[in-house]
Amino acid sequence: MGKTTESTESTIVIGGGVGGLSVANALQQVGRKVSVYEKAIELKEAGAGIVLAANAMWALEKLGVAEKVRTIGSPVKKAEIRTWDGKLLVDVPVHEQAKRNGTYSYLIYRPDLQQILYQKLKPDTVVFDRKLVRIEQDSSSIRAIFENGDVSEGDLIIGADGVHSQVRKTIIGSTPLRYSGFTAFRGISHFESANFPVELGGGFEAWGFGKRFGFSHLGKGRIFWFAAINAPQGQLITIEERKKTALQLFKGWWEPIEAVIGSTDESNILVHEIFDRSPVKHWSQGRATLLGDAAHPMLPNLGQGGAQAMEDALVLARCLKAQPDHVQQACRKYEQVRVPRTTKVVRKSRMMGRLMQLQNPFAIECRNLLLRTMPDSFQIKRLEWLFNYEV
Ligand SMILES: Cc1cc2nc3c(=O)[nH]c(=O)nc-3n(C[C@H](O)[C@H](O)[C@H](O)COP(=O)(O)OP(=O)(O)OC[C@H]3O[C@@H](n4cnc5c(N)ncnc54)[C@H](O)[C@@H]3O)c2cc1C
Repeated sequence: MGKTTESTESTIVIGGGVGGLSVANALQQVGRKVSVYEKAIELKEAGAGIVLAANAMWALEKLGVAEKVRTIGSPVKKAEIRTWDGKLLVDVPVHEQAKRNGTYSYLIYRPDLQQILYQKLKPDTVVFDRKLVRIEQDSSSIRAIFENGDVSEGDLIIGADGVHSQVRKTIIGSTPLRYSGFTAFRGISHFESANFPVELGGGFEAWGFGKRFGFSHLGKGRIFWFAAINAPQGQLITIEERKKTALQLFKGWWEPIEAVIGSTDESNILVHEIFDRSPVKHWSQGRATLLGDAAHPMLPNLGQGGAQAMEDALVLARCLKAQPDHVQQACRKYEQVRVPRTTKVVRKSRMMGRLMQLQNPFAIECRNLLLRTMPDSFQIKRLEWLFNYEV
């Protein structure tokens, strides 16, 4: 028989990923009592890199951890887009962007980011090894029921439990996952490149026919690479075949791509099929709401899933601060602020994916011509609504 914990004034967060840890910090900043329940037995994220665009850096600033992120991560001071065989298409005006946005983007090892957010919390905020199985609510409180039989009661449950969210299933039902059409490889290694010295940070992307490869410095002497490959859903690549498959897929591509993959330990390569969901208009029901991938899973083409989760966290905390005794009204206000922006990001991420993963040679020629002739000023303006945004 499980035990009941927490008073009805406490807010319950399900999931200790980037979104859950961010919202717990934001809620503590506004004086709310909060507990995070995470199904994993410890804070351990898959070893990949995460880009923190300017809007994410501003959110981290407000969460009080940006300085630490800058110390541990690596600023993106070089960003190029090339063809698969190395012809320069775009030299992204990163310095001008940084001037306008007030900060460079940063790359950081995801477990480092989680550790930074975790350490900023009050002791014992996160309870590990608690897998939510269902929620129950009435007009005065809400309860989270865990697999081990424990029950937590609070005034609000925030589902920050990722793309397969159990909280989402309970409050808005099953909405289908949409397969992106591509599989992503991600790798971490130590690699030195004369063209992309560590002092500069950043790196490049190379776009081919239905395939692309990206490389960037990550901080602490490591580099992060990713690849996106058009593929039918359900194609499995075994752990032992990851490196061999990646090497085959990028055989003959611009140097240093093969060398980067070659430098990576098999165990440091992740492979995932990529999904999102169609945006919805509401994320809350009674005393439960959603945040991050649970609310608006998006394709990683704009590098914004984590950033949007952090923005959600700050807005939700602000809405709760404004209406501390009316959580349902606060959640409605939170949705009103966040749904339009995140819906736009989900849609644009999909659009970017179609452009980046083109396979038709004629369409690629046209796209590349457009990229080569695009003035810097247009590039900066195109995504200013997204990056130059202080939540
Ligand atoms: C290939 C790839 C590259 C990406 N690159 C970037 C990038 O560069 N920049 C960026 O900003 N974003 C990026 N993203 C997106 C980003 O990773 C996600 O948007 C972000 O991690 C979402 O955070 P979250 O906290 O909402 O969910 P998650 O990080 O998925 O965390 C959910 C947490 O909930 C826990 N959980 C799940 N179910 C339960 C349960 N029933 N009970 C208790 N706990 C539970 C999980 O264990 C997990 O810890 C990328 C995504 C992918 C797939």
